[in-house]
Amino acid sequence: LVSRKSKTEDTIIRIKGTAIGGSDSVLVAGPCSVESAEQVMEVAASLKRAGVPVIRGGAFKPRTSPYDFQGLGFEGLVMLKEAADEFGLLTISEIVDPRHLERAADYVDIIQIGARNMHNFELLKAAGDMRKPVLLKRGLAATLDEFLHAAEYIVSRGNSEVMLIERGIRTYEKWTRNTLDISAVPILKQQSHLPVLVDVSHSTGRKEIMAPCAKAALAAGADGIMVEVHPNPPAALSDADQQLDIGEFEQFVREVKASGLYR
Ligand code: PEP
Ligand code: MN
Repeated sequence: LVSRKSKTEDTIIRIKGTAIGGSDSVLVAGPCSVESAEQVMEVAASLKRAGVPVIRGGAFKPRTSPYDFQGLGFEGLVMLKEAADEFGLLTISEIVDPRHLERAADYVDIIQIGARNMHNFELLKAAGDMRKPVLLKRGLAATLDEFLHAAEYIVSRGNSEVMLIERGIRTYEKWTRNTLDISAVPILKQQSHLPVLVDVSHSTGRKEIMAPCAKAALAAGADGIMVEVHPNPPAALSDADQQLDIGEFEQFVREVKASGLYR
């Protein structure tokens, strides 16, 4: 169902006046984790100024260590929605437990399924039973075939509003956090009608190459870009090293939009 063979025209996901896929590019930005009401409010204000329509922010964080910040849970989702509503933005947040999906749907416009859960087939099926757009992240070591099959799990349950996002894969290279597989973009666009985005934060982990990588993604045919932004990155409770501060974020958006590649 996700293949070009089954449907030739691009899937366009329309949410409250924002279209993802099709002729316009989209930017998704926000903190790695929702940390406080003030933090997400400040970020939401900067997104509004920069003309970015979708705010992201994790409330259920799949952390490597159980001793690291695990997220604010539903309290965080409430803060994210309040900030988004204040500035007329859409919300996106990761859900890790199928039992949380229904309640989360009151706060998120797009459900994110994270890289670590791309192979969690019960979560995929449960998201497929929802009538809510899903942003599916590529697994840490997933082939494109596995990635498309994960999307198929969702769509085959009747939820056709799925977006794919390349977020870097594990390789031996250590100068970037992960290896951004830029070739995934044109391949996914050729193989599937679903919108394809690129997360330049988790793929590179390096602020200074995020704008060129975003431009490369758009040049390769990506429908959108995700980037992490935090009012005070050194104090962030997760991914402190890779989050742009507000000034860096504004510069990033200017550079990407001025490239001529942003549609
Ligand atoms: C995230 O986007 O918040 C995240 C945890 O990313 P990933 O699942 O790609 O590691
Ligand atoms: Mn992060």
